[in-house]
Amino acid sequence: MYFWIIGAVILGCLLLALGGAARFLPRTELPSRSSRSMGGLATLTVGAGCSDRIDSLAAQVQDIFTRLEQELSTYRSDSATSLLAERAGVDSVALSEDARRVLNLALRFDELSDGASDVTVAPLVKLWGFGSAPGSASLPSEETIREQLKFVDYRRVILKDRTAFLPVKGMAVDLGGIAKGYAVDRAFDFCRSVGVGNFLIDLSGNIRVSGRPQWGKKWQIGVRNPFDRSSMVGKIALRSGLALATSGNYERFVEFMGQRYSHIINPSTGLPVTGTAGVTVLCEDATTADGLSTSLFVLGLKGCGKLLQKAPPAEVLIVPDRYPVEIWLTRGFAEVFVPIPDLSNAVRILTPTSL
Ligand code: ADP
Ligand code: MG
Repeated sequence: MYFWIIGAVILGCLLLALGGAARFLPRTELPSRSSRSMGGLATLTVGAGCSDRIDSLAAQVQDIFTRLEQELSTYRSDSATSLLAERAGVDSVALSEDARRVLNLALRFDELSDGASDVTVAPLVKLWGFGSAPGSASLPSEETIREQLKFVDYRRVILKDRTAFLPVKGMAVDLGGIAKGYAVDRAFDFCRSVGVGNFLIDLSGNIRVSGRPQWGKKWQIGVRNPFDRSSMVGKIALRSGLALATSGNYERFVEFMGQRYSHIINPSTGLPVTGTAGVTVLCEDATTADGLSTSLFVLGLKGCGKLLQKAPPAEVLIVPDRYPVEIWLTRGFAEVFVPIPDLSNAVRILTPTSL
């Protein structure tokens, strides 16, 4: 079974990483800058007429990511998430404007998805070894999973104007399902606010584009094959302003006895999600794309319809974890998606009846 990554990769700027995908590349390489941010790779690429601004812009975008990582990361002892866990059952914690907004948004997606995503899943993420503490060398026992599940319930988070409180000692929040998307939107707003119109931001597969790479062209994104990281299932052309996020993929997983376990936990069972290899979401902003991609990964092909009817408008690509490969697309996704020739017969349309 595979818990492999379906990663959205930028055509052009990830040439080296992709190797065999060179046929999709635009003819001219665009200026881009990459750095490590928020536990992954951040890349800023600028398009037509903006190349002279890339260095200062990349430095400022990097500052935005660094600041948000300090405020939101589970891995830092001085972050809002760490303070919330430390004061759980004792006291409320004052939040920065960004931390309050991200927590509020995360709770919104938790509610929309009826708890398929759950910001309080942190104790289980840690138990399975995806958190800051090194994971245990063996599979967690059913009993420990049951014990930690008692601390998981987003409805118990008390969020007031400027403070949040976790009412039970042992509770903790993990903003990892949405923080990168939020960070991409902040960087996107910043770039536009300083008058840069043509750029692409990619933070570990959370992508948002503005304008165009070259006159008359659109930004082209490849969607990675979750079963084979060196190939893609297809590509899409993005109109200015749109965002794309992919879940379930990831370089992050744990392995026990040769079996891989995905880093997304089903909060109703406490177990890593199975059944879905990858979910890619296309919508108007990166926060929504990221939030929905995590929830939809948990809900899978069968459960995604209900959420899509309630959620902000979004187009979705889902690859179930089974063979032969199937690529399920909502109609809006199908309109912009071009599968690779080998997989053109694998495409299926997600309609209200097929959901
Ligand atoms: P990425 O980190 O690649 O952007 P996702 O957006 O799918 O991937 O988020 C996965 C992260 O979300 C995990 O690493 C973990 O921190 C957190 N997480 C895991 N399971 C859940 C869940 N059920 N609900 C909310 N967050 C989750
Ligand atoms: Mg997500």
